[in-house]
Amino acid sequence: MAIIPEKQVYSFEEGRAEMKALLGGKGANLAEMIRIGLVVPPGFVVTTEACIRYYEEGQTMSSSLKEEVEEHLKALEKKMGKRFGDAEKPLLLSVRSGAVVSMPGMMDTILNLGLNRETTEGLARQVGDRRFALDCYRRFIQMYSDVVLKVEHDFDGIMQEEKDRRGFQTDIELDEEALEVIIDRFIAVTEKETAQPFPNDPREQLFRSIQAVFDSWNTPRANVYRRANNIPDDLGTAVNVQTMVFGNRGESSGTGVIFTRNPSTGENKLYGEYLINAQGEDVVAGIRTPKHIDELKDEMPRIYDELIRLCKKLEKHYRDMQDIEFTIEEGKLYFLQTRTGKRTAASAVKVAVDLVEEGIISREEAISRIEPDQLEQLMHRQIDERAALDVIAGGLPASPGAAAGQVVFDADTAEEWSEKGRKVILVRTETTPDDIHGMIAAEGILTSRGGMTSHAAVVARGMGKPCVCGSEEIRVDNENQCLQVDGRTVTRGEVISIDGATGRVMWGEVPMVEHRISGDFQTILDWADQVRTMKVRANADTPGDAARAIELGAEGIGLCRTEHMFFSPERLPVVQEMILAESMEKREAALQRILPLQRDDFKGIFEAMLGYPVTVRLLDPPLHEFLPDRDELLLQVNDLRKKGESAALKEKEALWQKVNALHEFNPMLGHRGCRLGLVFPEIYRMQVRAILEAAVELIKEGVEEARIMPEIMIPLVGNEGEIKAIRELVEGVMAEVEKETSVKLSYPVGTMIELPRACMIAERIAKHADFFSFGTNDLTQTTFGFSRDDAEGKFLPHYLENKILARNPFMEIDRDGVGELVRIAVEKGRLIKPGLEQGVCGEHGGNPASVKFFREVGLDYVSCSPFRVPVARLAAAQAAINQSR
Ligand code: PEP
Ligand code: MG
Repeated sequence: MAIIPEKQVYSFEEGRAEMKALLGGKGANLAEMIRIGLVVPPGFVVTTEACIRYYEEGQTMSSSLKEEVEEHLKALEKKMGKRFGDAEKPLLLSVRSGAVVSMPGMMDTILNLGLNRETTEGLARQVGDRRFALDCYRRFIQMYSDVVLKVEHDFDGIMQEEKDRRGFQTDIELDEEALEVIIDRFIAVTEKETAQPFPNDPREQLFRSIQAVFDSWNTPRANVYRRANNIPDDLGTAVNVQTMVFGNRGESSGTGVIFTRNPSTGENKLYGEYLINAQGEDVVAGIRTPKHIDELKDEMPRIYDELIRLCKKLEKHYRDMQDIEFTIEEGKLYFLQTRTGKRTAASAVKVAVDLVEEGIISREEAISRIEPDQLEQLMHRQIDERAALDVIAGGLPASPGAAAGQVVFDADTAEEWSEKGRKVILVRTETTPDDIHGMIAAEGILTSRGGMTSHAAVVARGMGKPCVCGSEEIRVDNENQCLQVDGRTVTRGEVISIDGATGRVMWGEVPMVEHRISGDFQTILDWADQVRTMKVRANADTPGDAARAIELGAEGIGLCRTEHMFFSPERLPVVQEMILAESMEKREAALQRILPLQRDDFKGIFEAMLGYPVTVRLLDPPLHEFLPDRDELLLQVNDLRKKGESAALKEKEALWQKVNALHEFNPMLGHRGCRLGLVFPEIYRMQVRAILEAAVELIKEGVEEARIMPEIMIPLVGNEGEIKAIRELVEGVMAEVEKETSVKLSYPVGTMIELPRACMIAERIAKHADFFSFGTNDLTQTTFGFSRDDAEGKFLPHYLENKILARNPFMEIDRDGVGELVRIAVEKGRLIKPGLEQGVCGEHGGNPASVKFFREVGLDYVSCSPFRVPVARLAAAQAAINQSR
């Protein structure tokens, strides 16, 4: 039985918008435009499947494909009343690539296919304009040589020489004689470079062009683009073969590119450019300056009105803003392409709200169309992209927003200079909790090491402060107070700018623009709140952050990291005294001095969050983080030793010994979290007391009891004994404070779930916990065995580039491993306590794809940096819509 080959070519009339996978985006939309009655030059599409088959057959075009193309060509000739390659009335074609998702890495267009010296004269006679025909021919040679024959030559340079020789300013002035010379020179160059005669046979031109489009699917550029945008390699590209319409037929012709609304602001008004007497590539090439589309209103009023009408029709049909290419040939309007227009966040939000108000889409569709990550663009200062930028380095885009300032290399200088009103960028190899005051003082933070969850990144995001981290090309030279990058040096006091949204580091102060939540942005978020089922909280450690979180729509604090309360310059010495204390009495005495300060911190936070839960986590980081750096101390000790015995030396030696004693090889797996609370219960007791006394003080000041909602959270629990013991400690303090103040206190006590073991025994932990909060930063670190401070700067980029991992697990939750542990823990927890409240407070709480997952496993809330709150609100709404579908 004969095998009937699958259909590999479709005429536009046979297609429709839904056939994108087979016909590519461009082909499917051309077909669709015909279906709805727009004027599109006729043509056909070679399918993506034909492309896949082309590769399967060793990059050769099968005879069956050639036959099918011939058949469709014949039909086209019949329809147009012209023949391809005919010397009298030649049919001319364009060949364009058309992947399923548009891909700038690929071959795009060849125009005027079918011309040679003979057919050019035929065309000249047919239209009665030889100059026009010659102009088409020289365009064809140039494009074909470049795109199909891969001749690398400056053809525009030849054109320029011929214009200069004749004193012409523009291409339009080139007359027949000049064009003939240019054509001869073009052909000569190409024949020399390819050592082959220039192809005169239109059929050869057509088949080789189709093949060139197929080949362009697999160029390094296209591969890189696909990798960067997560596009599968096996989709293949379609090829569109279309009859030519000519925008270069004189003053009643032209070509243009328009958006149906403004892609940068969203304004409901045509936006775009056109050129009279030109072909498509002239608009893009920038040889002549195109005119604003508004001018077409005066120049061609009838065409302009038609354009407006049909653009509206397209928008209504596709129910979204369109990006359109058109050509006018002797007063007749043709559509060459339409697709969903790419847009900025501001435009995305405005267009979505407007389309709802115009009755074109539903609120749910509006919510689903906005990329949550894009929203951050609307909340931070941004680089004004119109400015010329001198980018000196790149790093991880750790915390969005742009900042400029004088470079400083230590936190004290940052603070000192900022107190004097100077703007500074704090540059460190990596930051430590010691740098916190400098980070607060700085406009932005730049580090040469560390990943997206490094100290610098997490703290900066929490503060809503721009941060670029892990910029490994930068060498920080603390000794000489400068940084080196790519042969350049930036010394202390010189100004740089950083862009935490893209990871760029730029020389000098670059211009910036400001944004706020209001108008349409507010509307979208209000709509999102109406559909989402998951709550959104913020990670916030200060009353200021808490207030900002409320402003951005947070419904409580999911994580208040109390360690940040130990770091201010006036507190750190007392904290160090507490750590270094030789006896319990001395430690208690130091803690007594910290207690009122923490109590005030909590009061401020509870006041900012009245009516919302505030989850306070007891101290988590290892104690050495509060002490001076071990290596620096040793240097100081050695210096003092050289000077002989002294009291200062004794003191430093004692300190060095203590620091040494606290030193750990793997501090992240060391004496931290609840392990601290078990060995030094007095620290946790002080913290719990501070929380409870803050609540009592507010109650006594007249605040309604029910509106103060602390939740006490125990970090890094991995077994039942740990939580049991610390819960007892907490309840002990609660009973004490109750007795002392006669205020009834019963606040939830829960735990972070951030170790694989905790997930596996979650039912046992749940017996002692009133809530679970998943710390997915540590859970990712401990599940993968990837250090969260090193992985992203060291080997993760290699993993991602080589597709060993598809995504960075510190940014997007790893569903299969870490996510599975979360799922297990959620289920086990609810098995014991069906109503157990469960949320997430790791960085993933602000990542849209992760938010979707958290909704799937049934978490009650996500908690993220204040500036991610709107992103999470939208993502939670999308997750709800998605799941209900
Ligand atoms: C976590 O581990 O996910 C978490 C939120 O805690 P931290 O980042 O402070 O370790
Ligand atoms: Mg943690």
